[in-house]
Amino acid sequence: MDHLQEKYSQIIKTQAKNLGFDFCGIAKAGFLEEEAPKLEAWLNQNYQGQMAYMANHFDKRLDPTKLVEGAKTVVSLIYNYFPKKELFQEKEEYKIAKYAYGQDYHHVIKEKLKVLLENLRQEIGEIDGRAFVDSAPVMERQWAQKSGLGWLGKNSLLLNKEMGSFFFLAELVIDLEVAPDPPILKDYCGTCTKCIDACPTEAIVQPGVVDASKCISYLTIELKENIPAAFKGKMENWVFGCDICQDVCPWNRFSKPHQEPLFDPKPELGEITNRDWEEITEETFNKVFAKSAVKRTKHYGFLRNIVFQK
Ligand code: SF4
Ligand code: SF4
Repeated sequence: MDHLQEKYSQIIKTQAKNLGFDFCGIAKAGFLEEEAPKLEAWLNQNYQGQMAYMANHFDKRLDPTKLVEGAKTVVSLIYNYFPKKELFQEKEEYKIAKYAYGQDYHHVIKEKLKVLLENLRQEIGEIDGRAFVDSAPVMERQWAQKSGLGWLGKNSLLLNKEMGSFFFLAELVIDLEVAPDPPILKDYCGTCTKCIDACPTEAIVQPGVVDASKCISYLTIELKENIPAAFKGKMENWVFGCDICQDVCPWNRFSKPHQEPLFDPKPELGEITNRDWEEITEETFNKVFAKSAVKRTKHYGFLRNIVFQK
């Protein structure tokens, strides 16, 4: 392997670490050949529900060189969000997914990616590229797997041996050739089926395949209409996202608290009672979730989710 490409890899990983990213893996940009039939089958089953954007730009989604001109490398990054203290532990409490406790990760991580790209330009020279965080055009779990950051679990999430799955994935797609990391080809789920067994809406339709239109995350965040009556009584009080298939995963025994102050919850989030949630005004909603990803549902969507649980 080209000595210079190895050096670039080391520079990128050191810079990523300095910015607080937990892991960084590198893959050669190109067509995701193995993923094409899987994505097509998933879309043909309409597992994307109303997320029409999942079906858009099919070719670009499978090939970042069509998304970013001159792309040579996909840099995948992991950023921990496992909280210091879990909120909403009681069964009857309304629950918000852990990733949404603090400030909206899109902004927090996008800023870090911009700094990372800028730092790389300073150290290496002119680099063109684009940054992505939880962004539909990039198949981020597959790229993370390809670059050695983990394997795709039966719950379809990326699992990392040291961290489990409570982290964000982000990518830099750049026009610099960098030595790639070897992918992890082994599946460390083994015979475990805890996530499949625990999913209350039976959204994991086969190992590694989630019918998003049945997933509580989709139903509470993406779905714009009423939640179908078939899910009544099955959502276990989740009102924004769902952590069940991660909470039961044995690999998440290794989760350690994040070090990002911007992901800490506002103190009032831990003090809100079910009664408060049920009576939450638009003004309070906007105040409590001013910088949070939760505001995506807007006040009426959040209330819809709460009313549906009763
Ligand atoms: S997030 Fe919840 S609803 Fe969705 S697949 Fe996992 S356990 Fe099922
Ligand atoms: S719960 Fe078990 S099967 Fe599911 S992702 Fe975790 S290890 Fe894999």
